[in-house]
Amino acid sequence: MQTKTKWSPGPGAKVLGVALTNNDGWVVSAAGPAFGICPDCGRRTRNRHGWSNRSLQDLPVQGKTVTVKLRLSRWRCAHQKCERQTFTDRLPTIASPYARRTRRVSEIVGLLGHSAGGRPGERLMRRLGMPVSDDTILRQLKRDAARAHRDATIRVVGIDDWSWRRSWRYGTMIVDLERRSVVDILEDRSVASVARWLEQHPSVEIVSRDRCGLYAQAAREGAPQARQVADRFHL
Ligand SMILES: [Zn+2]
Repeated sequence: MQTKTKWSPGPGAKVLGVALTNNDGWVVSAAGPAFGICPDCGRRTRNRHGWSNRSLQDLPVQGKTVTVKLRLSRWRCAHQKCERQTFTDRLPTIASPYARRTRRVSEIVGLLGHSAGGRPGERLMRRLGMPVSDDTILRQLKRDAARAHRDATIRVVGIDDWSWRRSWRYGTMIVDLERRSVVDILEDRSVASVARWLEQHPSVEIVSRDRCGLYAQAAREGAPQARQVADRFHL
């Protein structure tokens, strides 16, 4: 029982079994809670309407991938005055609604993508037993960036290359230098896309970029109001 608890992807998921397969690594079968709590009226129900299954990539074990097959319930709200008829277990501490990996794996994807870039991040994640594609890394970075900067006014940006899909292809990373965090990842490295991004963010007052002409040109076109400085890392 103790061992099974350790395989759990998080609170609310009860582990039913663990098996090591030849092709898919560890497969953990788990089920959601034995009762539901209606998101509208807050009452408990044990009136099950059906099942739904989710497959989530979780942290590796012994260098092998772990896939959690999570069986969730669809419940019927029994309260007469409640307008909601059915709802599904959510378990937000384990994974976001449509995610294909657990939150704790998504966090690592974001951290590695941020520091290593797309292709090296993909290689490293594979070695660590958490294979993800570079597209997934890019999407995760964009999601994290959008969440962190939903209401922020961006004044000072740093623009730099970001190695994406195969080492010969580069994207562009845009960093809020005041908050020291990534605001966006663009899929290519072109004057047009960087200029467009800058046009959409008229609050930018200072653009820090490398000494190559591409980002300088983009800043001239997209943010003529901004002052340009050459990034000290590129001097
Ligand atoms: Zn209800």
